[in-house]
Amino acid sequence: MRIDLHAHSNISDGTEPPAAVMAAAAAAGLDVIALTDHDSTDGWDEASRAALENGVALVPGMEISCRTEEGISVHLLSYLHDPAHPGLLEEITKAKDARLTRAERMVTLLAEDYPLSWDDVIHHVAPGATLGRPHIADALVAAGVVADRTEAFTSILTSHSRYFVQHYAPAPALAVELVRSAGGVPVFAHPVASARGRVVGERTYREMIDAGLAGLEIDHRDNTEAGREFLRGLAARHGLLITGSSDYHGTGKPNLLGENLTAPEAFARIEELGTGSAVIR
Ligand code: AMP
Ligand code: FE
Ligand code: FE
Ligand code: ZN
Repeated sequence: MRIDLHAHSNISDGTEPPAAVMAAAAAAGLDVIALTDHDSTDGWDEASRAALENGVALVPGMEISCRTEEGISVHLLSYLHDPAHPGLLEEITKAKDARLTRAERMVTLLAEDYPLSWDDVIHHVAPGATLGRPHIADALVAAGVVADRTEAFTSILTSHSRYFVQHYAPAPALAVELVRSAGGVPVFAHPVASARGRVVGERTYREMIDAGLAGLEIDHRDNTEAGREFLRGLAARHGLLITGSSDYHGTGKPNLLGENLTAPEAFARIEELGTGSAVIR
């Protein structure tokens, strides 16, 4: 069984509609794919239909942007939660709204130095999609400022950049708690991706585990080797499940579907734990 539990569509910052992601998953020889758009479950219906058509099993999911008190960014994957759970829905709605204001502010700052307008950015966003820096990157690519998203993220759009603006994001432990109360399975996404920015320390792991964290995404291209070793120890000590995934974003990132996989036993455990929605197969 080839199982990839982390992929994005244009409901957030992937470049393909949910149905195309399902077709790509089948073409990549996957048996199971999770759709995990940032702060949104709007792609689930389209993906469900396409998954059935393409003979691939769909794990409905989401990736929640969180931030610790120290200002460290944490991504939390949620699988099989109830998309209508009021508490969780309220948090992601708050985050999505804040993302809009934040993007407007970033564009205002960027427009002082680059040929960029709000319309240029919106042009790259599917209606209702979760707006993020990748869409601003797309507008900068179109304006000829950078060659691709990767270049934008290593230069103009880093979190240290003078154009960077934060947006509201829940504390990681709160997000874990909400995912659990929505019947979902919370898995810490790429926890040791140190090239993206600062990574969390022991206290945040403890808070997330106490709140009900179920697993760690260890096999992900952005996790450092040394960090993976640490995570394996942590998983063993706390009985956390381990996943491996691509974090596919279409042409928005070099990550390829199936480049990392999750063991069937871990997937079975996720399906067992998730009670808010069901695997589509
Ligand atoms: P934001 O959530 O708006 O701050 O933007 C962060 C998002 O940008 C993450 O979800 C990543 O998927 C995406 N991202 C981060 N680094 C890169 C990169 N080098 N190339 C493309 N997308 C990236
Ligand atoms: Fe992303
Ligand atoms: Fe992420
Ligand atoms: Zn992701």
